[in-house]
Amino acid sequence: VTTSVGKGGKRSIKDVLKFIVPNLIKRGVLNLHEPIISIRISGDGRNVGKKVKHVMITFAILEDIENIHNPNYHYTVVLYPGLENYESLDILTISFREELQELKEIGININGVNWTINMYFSSDWKFLTICLGFNSANSLFFCPWCTITKKEISDIKKEWLISKQIDNINQYNGHHSTPLFNMISLENWIPDELHIMLRITDRFWSLLLHEIEETGYFNDVAREIIVKEMNRIKVNFHFWQEKECQSWSFTSLMGQDKLKVLQFFDLNKVLPPTRANVIRNLWNGFFDLYTAIQDPNTDPKMFKRDAKMWLKIFLTPSTGIPNSDNFVQGLYRPNDVTPYMHVLVFHIHEFIEKHKKWGLKSFSCAPVENKNH
Ligand SMILES: [Zn+2]
Repeated sequence: VTTSVGKGGKRSIKDVLKFIVPNLIKRGVLNLHEPIISIRISGDGRNVGKKVKHVMITFAILEDIENIHNPNYHYTVVLYPGLENYESLDILTISFREELQELKEIGININGVNWTINMYFSSDWKFLTICLGFNSANSLFFCPWCTITKKEISDIKKEWLISKQIDNINQYNGHHSTPLFNMISLENWIPDELHIMLRITDRFWSLLLHEIEETGYFNDVAREIIVKEMNRIKVNFHFWQEKECQSWSFTSLMGQDKLKVLQFFDLNKVLPPTRANVIRNLWNGFFDLYTAIQDPNTDPKMFKRDAKMWLKIFLTPSTGIPNSDNFVQGLYRPNDVTPYMHVLVFHIHEFIEKHKKWGLKSFSCAPVENKNH
């Protein structure tokens, strides 16, 4: 068995298991006397070259903690050139899903030992909702795990827990199709920590640029200051204007560069000191939460409290009368809260608690993103 499926195609998960399990036993990763295997399924759509898109589905063995972040240990089972959408995935995953159903119901016999299989699913928001047969993130009913609506997204007094079940999920609003992987229980559908960091940092960045634009200072000087500051923190960054386009485009940053911006970008270079300080505290608070997600020793109750506190700060309202001495500018508006922020604040603590055996970092999609095929 090689780790490549070639230009497109499928591979039997049962065949791969039969091939890799003996070695996992030899290495002491799996235990013959406790024959359980925990499988993590992931997938994403990616650009291959400028015009070609590929969709890839992989699986990995969670017990193999030593290799869970190594792309070579995420085995490709489905790969096809095309777009990530429900209809294509429905057709191209038929045999894979039949195998998963069988693995769930009767397990797998390898060299005379019957193994029980536990299953998990982890991906970015888009791929997860497609596979769940659910609405996209900008819908009124946007959360795969609870029944919240967009209108309630900034209400910090409410509590939201994982409340839907996979077996009757189509009775809830927004679920338009049967989940592709309905053999995996909903609490085992885990949001990817990498994309939580990427997308919330994107939000911070666009809110910052918007603020600079609103104050009327988003000119050549401001753009040069931003590029210089990026250079200082060793991030390659440019602005440019597309032909016949008023708005400015800028370099889209990779994960490591986004983390540098989140931690080290000096907001004093572009904002008045008090304002820079307030926003820096918000960014730091998010960085601390992101670090806590990755730490296997994080206490879920403390995380929940800190995350709620952070959202409260994000939503700090303005006080006093505008343009008077007692006016204190707040931070962001209810509309600025994103689905990823909802998951961070209301669901991540539950995932930390339920999956503490593995730690949420074990479900990171970074190794799948880095996988070549
Ligand atoms: Zn929710």
